[in-house]
Amino acid sequence: MEHVAFPTLGAIAKKTILRADLSMSVNEAAKLMNEKGLSSIVFEQGQDRFIFSVEDLLRFVHAEGNGRQALRELYVPTLYCMNESQRVLAALEYLEQRGLRYLGVTNEDNTLVGIISYSDILTSIDPVVLMERKSIGDLISRSAPVTFTADWILEDVVHHLKKMEDSIVVVEEGKPIGIVTTTDVFGVLASGREMLSPLAHYMTSPVFTMPDHSSISDALLQLKMHAIKRIVVVDEKGKLVGVATQSELVGFAYGSWVNILRSHTAELHELVGMLQEKTRNLEMLTVTDTLTGLGNRRLLHKHMMEEIERMRRYGSAPFSLVIVDIDLFKSVNDQFGHLVGDEVLKAIAAEIDHLVRKTDTAVRWGGEEFAVLLSNTPLAAAAALTDRLRGIIEQLSFADGAKVTISAGVGEFVSKEDEATFFQRVDRALYTAKANGRNQVKVDLGW
Ligand code: GH3
Ligand code: MG
Ligand code: MG
Repeated sequence: MEHVAFPTLGAIAKKTILRADLSMSVNEAAKLMNEKGLSSIVFEQGQDRFIFSVEDLLRFVHAEGNGRQALRELYVPTLYCMNESQRVLAALEYLEQRGLRYLGVTNEDNTLVGIISYSDILTSIDPVVLMERKSIGDLISRSAPVTFTADWILEDVVHHLKKMEDSIVVVEEGKPIGIVTTTDVFGVLASGREMLSPLAHYMTSPVFTMPDHSSISDALLQLKMHAIKRIVVVDEKGKLVGVATQSELVGFAYGSWVNILRSHTAELHELVGMLQEKTRNLEMLTVTDTLTGLGNRRLLHKHMMEEIERMRRYGSAPFSLVIVDIDLFKSVNDQFGHLVGDEVLKAIAAEIDHLVRKTDTAVRWGGEEFAVLLSNTPLAAAAALTDRLRGIIEQLSFADGAKVTISAGVGEFVSKEDEATFFQRVDRALYTAKANGRNQVKVDLGW
């Protein structure tokens, strides 16, 4: 018997395809999609296929493009296709690996017979088999939702909407009273209405909510029943806890499938291939530096964005950044060899790791550079800590009597700047420390 858990693409593809040619203007495309109630238009030119979607339209509007422009003049993404006999699991992997949101479905003659969106695939997964044990509260605790009060002007907040799943929850005293979704904004755009009124004017109200202890499968059933793409989650007092999107919910459920499927040998082969691919991707996405065991740039960036977000949202405690560069490290390598050089890198990494708190983020920033994000730390304390590090390194001795010193730049984040300018300031301080003779710490006093 066929395993119904994996329908084929042919079985779930939307067979209505909106076709047009690239001479169409962006405004016309938006109007057409709106009229037909479809979220994409396909363009076929010989063997090539392209797709223009609601997401592309939103990106275009954010970039303040001119709606009269013909689509031919824009970058319209290629529509990638898979055969209708393939299964949804393969398609899900394909889309996730390439970061795509749409897939064309073709028949044996390579004729386009349907379109599938990432959402369609997620929806095709049957919630009945999903785990009951986890609650939606478990799922969303990691990310705080974007919220505003009803008096905010839509135009001022619309840039928070970037994907189909995105939404802005409107709150009053912490309780959700309405929701504005990407689709709502699309409706406003397509109808040519202005975005200058307060959110109260556009929001869907009241908003459907679920308590945070509801199970993932309950949430998925509600998504299906109400034909919605997200669940607004509240605590026992009715206060907003977060938003669980369809993709997060299904993504979670999808993980639990792996267990369910162990008994289905027919699917096992496919699964093994997938998992190997996933492992390879995970290795690429790793956040540690192999030589020193510290974090890498990716980790620092992630934590930096979290700190910046926290500061903007709650105006919370100050945080600082340190960039450390080993002085004249090239000559250490030249004089004592690369192995000794590597020992020095590891030893300095260990000293940094030892000196910082658990809540700080120490990473290898580049070859012989390190960066430390000191959360909850104002400039003076960051400078003192860095100078302590400098003193410790100065005292170390390595094989064959090798010695090194470090220079460092230190700065405290100012809420009006962004990650890039913050790094530039601290990097400039480091440069000054080098120029002033090395083995020293320079602070940047801010804007
Ligand atoms: P400065 O004080 O101006 O920073 O001088 P420097 O010699 O440290 O500066 P430069 O940036 O020119 O040289 C950095 C050197 O670090 C180049 C490279 O040989 C060495 N290096 C980078 N990564 C590694 C590594 O993983 N292992 C070893 N042993 N050396 C490395
Ligand atoms: Mg360097
Ligand atoms: Mg150096």
